[in-house]
Amino acid sequence: MNENLFTTFENSIKDQNRIFIQTPDGISYRYCDMLSLSGQYANILDTLGVKKGDRVAVQVEKSPQVLFLYLACLRIGAIYLPLNTDYTSREVHYFLNDARPTIAICKPSSLEAFENIARETGVKSVLTLNNDNTGSFIELSDKEDSSFSTVAVKNDDLAAILYTSGTTGVSKGAMLSHENLRSNALTLAQYWHFSEDDILLHPLPIFHTHGLFVATNTILLSGASMILQPKFDIEQLIKLMPTATTMMGVPTHYLRLLASKEFTKEATENMRLFISGSAPLSPETHKDFYHLTGHKILERYGMTETNMNTSNPYDGERVPGTVGYALPNVDVRISDPKTGVPLDQGEVGVIEVRGPNVFQGYWKMPEKTAAEFRDDGFFITGDLGQIDEKGYISIVGREKDLIISGGLNIYPAEVEAILDAVTGVIESAVIGLPHPDFGEAVTAVVAGIESEKLNESIIREQLAKELAKFKVPKRVIFVDSLLRNTMGKIQKKVMREQYQDLYKS
Ligand code: AMP
Repeated sequence: MNENLFTTFENSIKDQNRIFIQTPDGISYRYCDMLSLSGQYANILDTLGVKKGDRVAVQVEKSPQVLFLYLACLRIGAIYLPLNTDYTSREVHYFLNDARPTIAICKPSSLEAFENIARETGVKSVLTLNNDNTGSFIELSDKEDSSFSTVAVKNDDLAAILYTSGTTGVSKGAMLSHENLRSNALTLAQYWHFSEDDILLHPLPIFHTHGLFVATNTILLSGASMILQPKFDIEQLIKLMPTATTMMGVPTHYLRLLASKEFTKEATENMRLFISGSAPLSPETHKDFYHLTGHKILERYGMTETNMNTSNPYDGERVPGTVGYALPNVDVRISDPKTGVPLDQGEVGVIEVRGPNVFQGYWKMPEKTAAEFRDDGFFITGDLGQIDEKGYISIVGREKDLIISGGLNIYPAEVEAILDAVTGVIESAVIGLPHPDFGEAVTAVVAGIESEKLNESIIREQLAKELAKFKVPKRVIFVDSLLRNTMGKIQKKVMREQYQDLYKS
């Protein structure tokens, strides 16, 4: 039996003439276009020598073509490897060297850098794809047939690798199988009542689990439509809302909507559901949104490694400040982070999950994978949480010092490593501080020698050369020395308290 996720998508099409993707400027692609374009792109990959199990690395701007490319990878049995468009060449080098893809597809403006990296990492060909449906990849499609016989794969075969940041600064490639993605999308489509009548507002990036899998796979399994915004644009989003029925966003999107004068109850009248995830949605935002629009945002919780684990209910009470119940077929428990012993109801501990949604492990890192699973198959998420008497789960913090700014993850250790290499910096600590817009703002605390060559803008400029923009600290605080405890550990928690009002104006 063919257990290819694409075959499930194909079997879920209700009407081939139904629109799958529309763009804000009026271009639309029907399900029949999805079938022919993904077939054509799969034929290109075949011509380029991509085989089942090969990786295809992609760092391009958001466009419908990127989703057809993702689907083409599924069809040929290749492993799709999307990269955040903000990553610098230094970062891309690490990913390509680690994943060793057969081909890489990039923006035309990064071609030279990619070709250099490709030579050093054994990538066979580099092609370009622009967000206006041009590029060397698209040029090849004229020569290719649109019919393609989808390659048979098994449930556990890999569909994608998504890199997460690592606490030690080393990114880990989370390996996701066809069944991991399928089981979660089927659950979500049903849990959130998606049908072919839905039109999803899609303002999210498509290199991340939220925009790529939660949004796109759920729509494909429902035979529904989506409006793909090239970039989050608040005015455009509000204008499009009356033509849509649902939206998936990060808390920052909901904050921005609330801050806009154009956003009214009338704009939301055609909408049946607003979903939030990737970072904590504050109870205030949830309540403000309800007061303005009458809609209770549905908050859910997941991560790259596990897909979605919990969700507030569709019909029942959506409790602000919680991430709802464990999803059907997903086991969630709270354990003592050190001993792994399951804790009693109400106690705070590390959230652990088990189910068909949980990934296959980290690419080429068997020890790291083993360390993050319990013997009975539960994955240790690293998030701290508790479960109340009704089964609602809330996240109380992160075990590690992950920073989430605007829905994107930043691990301090990676930023610190580069900061410490700046001339004049003695040592540094990178922390997340509450920020009204981004949720958290990356902030550097630096102990350095007194020098004209060292100030906030110099440091930020230097870091911007090495790091994606979202990881560059918004502010740099200079101190004589970093706060440490008697064991020599830097006291980040105390620092966060000390500077908690930095972005409050
Ligand atoms: P990522 O792998 O980028 O999707 O990030 C996963 C992390 O985002 C989780 O481990 C959580 O720390 C955080 N996260 C996701 N959804 C929520 C949520 N609804 N509330 C709080 N944190 C969340």
